[in-house]
Amino acid sequence: MRKKIIAGNWKMNKNLEEGLALVSEASNMIKDEYNGNALVVFIPPFIHINAVSKMLEGYENQFSGAQNCSNHQSGAYTGEISASMIKSCGANYVIIGHSERRQYFNEHNQWLAQKIDACLKNNLLPIYCCGETLEERESEQHFQVIESQIKEGLFHLNVNDFLKITIAYEPVWAIGTGKTASTAQAQEVHAFIRTLIASHYSNEIANEITIQYGGSVKPENAAELFAAPDIDGALIGGAALQSRSFTDIVKAMTH
Ligand code: PEP
Repeated sequence: MRKKIIAGNWKMNKNLEEGLALVSEASNMIKDEYNGNALVVFIPPFIHINAVSKMLEGYENQFSGAQNCSNHQSGAYTGEISASMIKSCGANYVIIGHSERRQYFNEHNQWLAQKIDACLKNNLLPIYCCGETLEERESEQHFQVIESQIKEGLFHLNVNDFLKITIAYEPVWAIGTGKTASTAQAQEVHAFIRTLIASHYSNEIANEITIQYGGSVKPENAAELFAAPDIDGALIGGAALQSRSFTDIVKAMTH
């Protein structure tokens, strides 16, 4: 059985006090109200990771993560944060290649492959994002775009390292827009990603990899998305900023 993972990406929201209040509420609500086996990941801005990680100690299946990391190990890179620094603050996961990083910070697949390596070298589990823009979908290039993102970002990994990856399919046109991909659209791409993995690695490996959907996931649409056979959880933006909506999405993951 592959792991189910619900991750909340706060982006550049919440000061320390607000962030800790959110984690305190949500972690307790999840503990009290959720008895499934999905893993939950809180992904605050870097400077809150240490405090969030400490708050989550002792909570089963609840972890912290980072939204990005440097592709360098250390050195004269003012303003950057390395994977080893993130690890030392208690995080387990790192989002790599979020569409906002690709779009606003020009992060390309080759660079993201280096970030994946930096995470793995420091025992951090990458959540690798892929997904097409509206223009790419409308011109029916979405499969091709996703294929390059996956191949160029991940397929240099050996099997052992590849098994540590979580993939998040996030159509850019559905992020923060209130517009969710239909369950059929999401399922189609998730199945496509699994086929790509099977052809490069094997069917067994493809069946082990967690593939999350991201793009305006809310308590109202989560259960339907999670019922699709190849959707193994969610990467959530807006709805992760409130303890009630985040917890309700976690509760929608019943199996
Ligand atoms: C995201 O940022 O990864 C995301 C999916 O955001 P939202 O849920 O707000 O669409």
